[in-house]
Amino acid sequence: MGRLFLCWLTLLLPLAPLSAETLTVYSARSEELIKPLFDLYEKQTGHSIQYTTDKAKGLLRRLKAEGRHSPADLLITVDAGNLWFAANQGVLAEVESEILQRNIPAYLRDPENRWFGLSVRARTIIYNSHKVDQDDLISYERLADSQWQGRLCLRTSKKVYNHSLVAMLINRHGARKTEDIIRGWVANLARQPMSSDVAVMAAIENGICDIGIVNSYYFGRLQKQNPGTHLALFWPAIEHNGVHVNVSGAGVTRYAPHREQAIRFLEWLSSEQAQHLLARLNMEYPVHPQVAPSDLVRSWGAFDADTSNLSQAGKLQKYAVRLMQRAGYR
Ligand code: FE
Repeated sequence: MGRLFLCWLTLLLPLAPLSAETLTVYSARSEELIKPLFDLYEKQTGHSIQYTTDKAKGLLRRLKAEGRHSPADLLITVDAGNLWFAANQGVLAEVESEILQRNIPAYLRDPENRWFGLSVRARTIIYNSHKVDQDDLISYERLADSQWQGRLCLRTSKKVYNHSLVAMLINRHGARKTEDIIRGWVANLARQPMSSDVAVMAAIENGICDIGIVNSYYFGRLQKQNPGTHLALFWPAIEHNGVHVNVSGAGVTRYAPHREQAIRFLEWLSSEQAQHLLARLNMEYPVHPQVAPSDLVRSWGAFDADTSNLSQAGKLQKYAVRLMQRAGYR
């Protein structure tokens, strides 16, 4: 029955290949954020997609343990730090693709073509608009000013999002100046670092602190729950080094059983149509420059991103972790 159905579908779709294959995806993104894309791809091409979701670390361990016997064709995960680490552990293959190079800006993909950003999230400053004058906000660096003493909330330094943020600060300023900045942040904390971006936003809403740093899509989720929220995002200007962005992304695995098809699927994920859907599923920004974000995301205003290559977030990750420890950022 399944086979009959596939043949019938193939006849209906002139672009579908003659032989349908089943791709296997390992995804650290949760099912609700990827399944609609898989469904659309299956409908359009006749290929089917099997997938396993788990934490980034678990999937990486599994890929390494399976080695050349792994059924996985593609690894999907979040944060350039995780993508870089997976590439560095040797589980991703180089992919030469003009389509990927055209659709994805260079700073959002691996210079060695082992991983590619597919959606962008901004990790930016969030503030209580009833208590903070927007003109007093300038940059990540200036959150270390004594003006913010007892008014700052941060997520735990153990989260990869903060490893990447601090790594990009090291990339910009060097370790010594970055350590001073982080010490300034720690001195300004209203409370011990929190377990999640959601907890940081709740603390600001509850008056425990006035400013914090969060990924933009968490603010989108808050706005959907509470359209009248008095929290707002602030975008550091380009003369103050711009906004730290990060990606969700993917790479073809080193021992992909269906390498060519996996590359086609990755290219499809970077296409205008897939980008439109992908960015909307988690209120993110498309990587494809020709695709607009959703109305809600656009309502947060335009910003200039720090366009240093995100592979630096991976390369400098271990220095960032040690630096945060030295600076007393728990
Ligand atoms: Fe997240």
